[in-house]
Amino acid sequence: MAINTEKYTSLLNEMKGKATLVAVSKTKPVEDLQVLYNLGQRDFGENYVQELVDKKATLPKDIRWHFIGHLQSNKVKYIAPFTHLIHGVDSFNLLKEINKEGIKNNRIINCLLQIHIAKEETKFGLDATELALIIKESTALKNTRIIGLMGMASFSNDMSLVRNEFILLRNLYNLYPELSILSMGMSGDYTIAIEEGSNLVRIGSLLFGERNYSTS
Ligand SMILES: *Cc1c(COP(=O)(O)O)cnc(C)c1O
Repeated sequence: MAINTEKYTSLLNEMKGKATLVAVSKTKPVEDLQVLYNLGQRDFGENYVQELVDKKATLPKDIRWHFIGHLQSNKVKYIAPFTHLIHGVDSFNLLKEINKEGIKNNRIINCLLQIHIAKEETKFGLDATELALIIKESTALKNTRIIGLMGMASFSNDMSLVRNEFILLRNLYNLYPELSILSMGMSGDYTIAIEEGSNLVRIGSLLFGERNYSTS
């Protein structure tokens, strides 16, 4: 078993009173999730719709499922009935689709808007202007609620670069006092993220070991 339960306990202590720990379990088997569940973990994050739906079917019902991947509009319907929080909303069209499915399922779906903070072009997300526009437009949508922002820093050893990206995100977050979730920080940079105001971290490899995409 690759699960690092000692790391889990020490992470929980580090987070106490500061941040919610979402255990990122993409590509990992349900047995691994069950180990953390048995230790009390309830928030799990997944990146792929089909994998999330399959895992949900076999694991306990009180898990809070976070969708943290890049969500395609045509797949919203599969997770809309149950998902606890969608982290990566990066367009108004996607938000409208989530709202439509929220209406169908008679629930309000909580969402985070993803902000592009990294230097890397490949990462998804909105800029400050697009953020302001979507926040404004979203007031018309009654079955979605934007409760915060999410971002991914550059994959870099330059920790001052990473810190500056988190500061950028936190400053944007502070412009909107109605928001309450600031989702930033992963295995390699969560300490800096928390120092810079994150209250939700998404941690995978530190808990579950490295991912091996080729054999999963
Ligand atoms: C995979 C993933 C994580 C977890 O990454 P680790 O480096 O394994 O902790 C966090 N956030 C997002 C959006 C991810 O895709």
